[in-house]
Amino acid sequence: MDFKEFIQKSYIRPWDIVIILLLTISSFLPLVVFGIQNTAQDDATKQAVLKVDGEVIKVFDLKEDGPTYTYRYEAADGDYNVIEVSGDKIRMAETNCGDQICVQRGWISKAGETPIACLPHNLFITVEASDGSEDGSLIY
Ligand SMILES: [Zn+2]
Repeated sequence: MDFKEFIQKSYIRPWDIVIILLLTISSFLPLVVFGIQNTAQDDATKQAVLKVDGEVIKVFDLKEDGPTYTYRYEAADGDYNVIEVSGDKIRMAETNCGDQICVQRGWISKAGETPIACLPHNLFITVEASDGSEDGSLIY
């Protein structure tokens, strides 16, 4: 039995199907709209840029509901810096530099805020606003 026969034999009329389809589609509309809004909010994300000797080593996405994790940067000469990201904040968690000023700096989270600087290691962490068009992209 094909689809037409099935419709004719059942109590479903063609218009019912149209109505059911419309209802189904409209029930998904809020999801779609919500999804678009979410994407729009993501456009205004921030990123933290880790630079050593002026070179970009890593870019961290900073999102309010983002994960907490650490990233360890180790230089060839044994210098190391452990960077902790928690949601939209970033800090120097641990390092073997002489002055520990970078650790004392604590969390930063605002775009354009004074960078975390580890001068003994020539290492900087800056927070910048990103356009969000592409993951890990930055505008200079
Ligand atoms: Zn330091």
